[in-house]
Amino acid sequence: MVCLSCGFCCKTMSPINGGYCPLLRNEGDVYYCSDYENRPIECANHTTPTNVCTIGKLKLNIKTEEQVKERIIKVRNIIRIK
Ligand code: SF4
Ligand code: SF4
Repeated sequence: MVCLSCGFCCKTMSPINGGYCPLLRNEGDVYYCSDYENRPIECANHTTPTNVCTIGKLKLNIKTEEQVKERIIKVRNIIRIK
């Protein structure tokens, strides 16, 4: 599943504390895990029935394939420089 880094799952149901994860960081509307390599198994196994996360699309108001591509490029550009 492609995560769009909206942060919703990490803000609301972290396996670490059941709510807003203490490991969550953001740059603008791009949210990312500050310990991605060692994230809990529940986070690694987090999936949705679709190829691209439906929650992320809803939260970010993404409706088209072009918007998905633009979002993925934005996320990669931010995460790459961390
Ligand atoms: S550990 Fe990382 S991936 Fe898991 S909820 Fe926290 S910020 Fe998100
Ligand atoms: S896009 Fe989906 S998996 Fe990624 S942070 Fe948002 S809700 Fe979580």
